[in-house]
Amino acid sequence: MEVYCTRPHCSRPKNHFADLDDITNLKTTQQKYCTSCGMPLILRDRYLPIKLLGQGGFGAAFLAIDRDTPKMRQCVVKQFQPSGNLTEEALEKARTLFTQEAETLEEIGNEHKQIPNLFAFFTITLPSLQPSQPNQFFYLVQEYIDGQNLEEELIQNGNFSEVQVLEILREILPVLTFIHDRGIIHRDIKPSNIMRRRDGKLFLLDFGAVKQIANSPSGSAASTGIYSMGFAPPEQMSGSQVFPSTDLYAFAVTLLTLMTGQEANQLFDAYTNQWKWRSQITVSPRLADILDKMLLAAASQRFQSAQEVLEALFAPSVPPTVLPQPPLPPIQQPPQRPIPVQPAFATWELLAGAAFSGFEGALIAIALFSLVKNPIITLAIAFVILGSLIFSQTQRWIEKFDLLIIPTISLAIIFFIPYLRGGLAIQQILIFTVAAALITIAITTLFKLIYKLLSSIL
Ligand SMILES: [Zn+2]
Repeated sequence: MEVYCTRPHCSRPKNHFADLDDITNLKTTQQKYCTSCGMPLILRDRYLPIKLLGQGGFGAAFLAIDRDTPKMRQCVVKQFQPSGNLTEEALEKARTLFTQEAETLEEIGNEHKQIPNLFAFFTITLPSLQPSQPNQFFYLVQEYIDGQNLEEELIQNGNFSEVQVLEILREILPVLTFIHDRGIIHRDIKPSNIMRRRDGKLFLLDFGAVKQIANSPSGSAASTGIYSMGFAPPEQMSGSQVFPSTDLYAFAVTLLTLMTGQEANQLFDAYTNQWKWRSQITVSPRLADILDKMLLAAASQRFQSAQEVLEALFAPSVPPTVLPQPPLPPIQQPPQRPIPVQPAFATWELLAGAAFSGFEGALIAIALFSLVKNPIITLAIAFVILGSLIFSQTQRWIEKFDLLIIPTISLAIIFFIPYLRGGLAIQQILIFTVAAALITIAITTLFKLIYKLLSSIL
């Protein structure tokens, strides 16, 4: 079995121990030491780093196994490894951030399923080559998410589709709401920090740059200069305060790089100070407008919360509003209009409507015939009017008492203007129209029965 040495700059970090291939030995063995530099390899007598996962920025990450668990659970050991020659002050700041990551994970990792759990946080002190300065190593052990991050997926599978991006939004925005509600800004959202576990679940990783905003005076946090170029919005780049909308900006850049397959810097036109991505890909206008609003330069003009983005994305019929450049009114979502849902017609409504259409149609036909004296024209116009009446009922423009009021008015008109009766007596007209109403009821019933019969067969 190979055990990886965690001492920074170890010349030969890979150590092979044949005896550790046996699980009983692995469980009971005493400490092992790096054959190259003498570094103790089994951290806390418990965690065995077996592979380097990544290195850079302020630390290194190792895949490790926890020999104190029944199934030798895999976990991630992160080591604080400040790179370069940092001043004592910068080093202290970086160390604070590392501690904060652990504190953040402890606070939220166990609470949210899409954030890795914190298992351990410890320091190992070893005598160094210069005895006056003992070497201190800081470690953090967290849940291992077995899968691929979105950067790896992009390389492997090519550009993401709109459907895939909508799914990422749907899964990650609630995680952002969760952390923002606790006063935590992630501050380093990018494709490599979103991990898809093998079962498809997305995780938000790397809280190394987070900073609690709860302690700062105005409820927002001053930036500490940890971010990824291209993903960070202006307020973060200038070291000013950061907000929930700072994460939304980086999230939008993340999605654009996934859809276009281009580096963030390539999508930004420094000359016009604008994001130029619409010419590269076509997405629905709603998503395009939402992304643009997440990418506005002024933090106050973006969506103010991940929840607002979710609502704009998935709420029915609420168009996203891209606010104009200054003045800056408080961002308000337009009130949500309920989706108009037309209840189905009850049978009595259907039959009453049919009677109305027959009765009114016959009255109109009589009046029309009196006017034009031409049966074909009369029939044609009467059909158009009848169609309009039926359509008006389906749209519920005509309903309930209208079904009584309209024929009553029509009948009154014909009663008072004898010219419109077409030479018929009032009694004849009544018989004629009632008969028409009964016929339409009969036809409607017949159609309803046929419809029912067909729906039960098909
Ligand atoms: Zn070593």
